[in-house]
Amino acid sequence: MLSLPTHISQQCRDCQERNEVTCWVLVDGGTRPDLIGRIIRGSLQEVACPRCSQIHRLELPVLVFRQETSPTLVFSPSRAMNDAENSSRRDQLIRILKTQIETFELRAGPDGKRNAPLGYKWQASWAESIATVGRAELGLYLSQSLEREKLGLIHFRERGDVQRAVDAARSIVETTRSYFGSDDLEYATALNNFGVVLNEAGLFADAASAHREALNIIRSS
Ligand SMILES: [Zn+2]
Repeated sequence: MLSLPTHISQQCRDCQERNEVTCWVLVDGGTRPDLIGRIIRGSLQEVACPRCSQIHRLELPVLVFRQETSPTLVFSPSRAMNDAENSSRRDQLIRILKTQIETFELRAGPDGKRNAPLGYKWQASWAESIATVGRAELGLYLSQSLEREKLGLIHFRERGDVQRAVDAARSIVETTRSYFGSDDLEYATALNNFGVVLNEAGLFADAASAHREALNIIRSS
């Protein structure tokens, strides 16, 4: 909801046709984890030519907002712009985000009280503690929480901490699904690992039952 695409005019390298294309410049990870997945894959600002379908990778400054994470704001400048242009674009994106959040705050909820439907409240400290991350490192930077979860899973399995290993494995499947979707290989791998961990917990007659249960748990979540 808070995520924002921008429309720019772009000439296709292949067919030379000039078209208006849509490119994401503001990403709210809370409501659009799939866009975080696209950043991790490096495809956030890939746009297809409407005429010949050629994929073009753009590089516009992007602001990422993650309510539950510190730092809450991450800005990635464009290598195609100079520092002044990037700073100006960063400040503009922060203002847009702030306005959107404040608009939500002011909107009355179902109980008639002023509230923020998304639970967001703008904090000045977010802009002060903004992280600036180069485009080449941005995907890795944003995938760090997933990487930490994976390390946690290894740690709990090694220690024989069955319950926490099960919780970690499940959480990895859910995070992977929200980032990449359920058709993704990364998701299939995480789901398989969840089945393996459930089987290790010894609650099922065999591995096949554990894998079936893993799928059932995830489907119902
Ligand atoms: Zn084209």
